Amino acid sequence: MKVKNNRSTLEKKLINSIKYLSPEDIEKIKAACDFSASAHFGQKRISGEEYITHPLNVAISLANLSSDSETIIAGLLHDVVEDTNFTYQDISREFGDRVAKLVDGVTKISQIKDKKKILKLSYFHDYSEQIDNYRKVLAAMAGDPRVIIIKLSDRLHNAQTLSWLSGEKKIFYALETIEIYAAVADRLGMGEIHGQLCDLSFPHAYPDEYKKFIEIIRPIQKIRQQNVEDVITEVNLLLKNESIGAEINGRVKRDYSLYKKLQTYNFDLAKIYDFIAVRIIVDSLSDCYKTLGIIHANYQPIEHKITDYIARPKENGYQSLHTVVKKDGFVFEVQIRTDEMHQNAEYGIAAHWKYKDSEYKNNRPNIKSELNWLEEISQSISNGYKLTNGKKFFSSKVFVFSPNGKIFELPANSTPIDFAFLVHTDIGLSCTGAKINGKLLPLDTKLKTGDVVEIIKSDKPKPSRDWLNFVQTTQAKNKIKNFFFNLEKPRLIKDGQKKVADELARLGLPQLTESNFNKYSLRINQSRLPYENIDSVFASIAKNDQSIIDFLRVILDDQEIGKDEKISKYTPKGSISLGIGQGIPYKIARCCKPKISDDIIGYITLQQKITVHKKSCAETKKFSKQRIISAKWQ
Ligand code: MN
Repeated sequence: MKVKNNRSTLEKKLINSIKYLSPEDIEKIKAACDFSASAHFGQKRISGEEYITHPLNVAISLANLSSDSETIIAGLLHDVVEDTNFTYQDISREFGDRVAKLVDGVTKISQIKDKKKILKLSYFHDYSEQIDNYRKVLAAMAGDPRVIIIKLSDRLHNAQTLSWLSGEKKIFYALETIEIYAAVADRLGMGEIHGQLCDLSFPHAYPDEYKKFIEIIRPIQKIRQQNVEDVITEVNLLLKNESIGAEINGRVKRDYSLYKKLQTYNFDLAKIYDFIAVRIIVDSLSDCYKTLGIIHANYQPIEHKITDYIARPKENGYQSLHTVVKKDGFVFEVQIRTDEMHQNAEYGIAAHWKYKDSEYKNNRPNIKSELNWLEEISQSISNGYKLTNGKKFFSSKVFVFSPNGKIFELPANSTPIDFAFLVHTDIGLSCTGAKINGKLLPLDTKLKTGDVVEIIKSDKPKPSRDWLNFVQTTQAKNKIKNFFFNLEKPRLIKDGQKKVADELARLGLPQLTESNFNKYSLRINQSRLPYENIDSVFASIAKNDQSIIDFLRVILDDQEIGKDEKISKYTPKGSISLGIGQGIPYKIARCCKPKISDDIIGYITLQQKITVHKKSCAETKKFSKQRIISAKWQ
């Protein structure tokens, strides 16, 4: 194959695309080109090109994103530590510690262990949780968001040269690019890189599907292209008449995303409206909505197909108005957005570099802004993890590996015990020691991202109460507590039963009979009490976690407990003095509504309230004698 891009052409291209940087920065970048070229001297890409063509391509991509000079230099040097004799110190000495740190981050990511295993597992078993964790490890290891951008640009060039690889290696690379790198780019809202990475890898990751896909889709796209061009001309005119300045084009949906969409719709082509979308970029937010109105006035909108991603942006920040309309039986999607929204959709966080954060570009990034970036990135990557109040992802999570390469996510400060319980309850309970990165370390050692943790077990469960002092996860805490609770349970049940018996005696109520325990358990299940059976309640009562009276209310019959004591709204003229003292509040019972001159008694209900009944009231026959008190009118 002809070698198209040699070093000097690419260098010229790079210098041309960094004109936004200062002359000093440009000099430094030139020096980095020389350094990288001599470091990689003699090395070749599989394509046969000089190795330096790779870092140069990476640097050009970074420059196209308006990256700062440190990022571009690190892009030029990103493979130096891994693939040449030069070290971190060499780079730090030549280009400063900040550049060296970026290079180090990129090197670390490429050294994530066992990624092949993870990806293979996922490919065959739809093990998407592992994939998700891999993405997060990538974010956590990167540390600086610029590391991820460099890594993405690196992968972009490698994906462009995928056809030079062969066999399993090619498939792995293509899959990894789609599942990990493209996904990360998507989470960062970098639509352009995301799309390129997917489309470059698609033919290599799924060659057969790709072939079929192209056969079906290309002819359709050709016809649609013509339809859309007619629409564009029309819309141009419509907007001009309303004096709305707009840039309108037909956007062919990218292959891989179209393929995925077809998959979700079971390859029913009739359900796809965005083979080609009409994209309208306008000057202002209000023009977005005005334009939508004009479109709907002139084309028939399809119901339920209007999506306002401006008011409700996608999770990765994407904003746009989408609608689907019909023209002469031809259905197509229209996307309306401002230029800023468009830049955000294409470049994601890198658009901040370009447009908002010029301070970041020109000055040395201060620590504060770096942290904000970190949070932003990590939040967008940790899909599904709703982090409230912008809590720092990196300081709140660690990712560790099992010896066979599975990734586990734990809260910060987690210990081998937390890890063991996350793997399996039995492993947690029988844990006696832990090897971290091959070294035997105490069980309260705090785990760090990237640690490989191996648990040493005994045959039988041997947990320690001390573990409760340092475990971080509720899972581990509960499992440990549960273990000891179950050990003590028989004693606790007895204690609880005794407490209940004492209380029943005090209240003058009949004792619980064991033959009724099943009935009681049933009532507990039907109640709001959080217990499986009566024994658990006894245990809980023994620990003073459960009030006896609430328990009795659930299991005893209404009349036994006096729950149904109906209170009358009727208030008698006279006041009543009770045998147990003056000024004690009471209620008049509804069943008999005693009047002045009736003989009356007071009754202490289980709720420790007093109701007043006629002495002759039939209800009083059910009352426990010990809780009847004397009462008379005053
Ligand atoms: Mn590379």
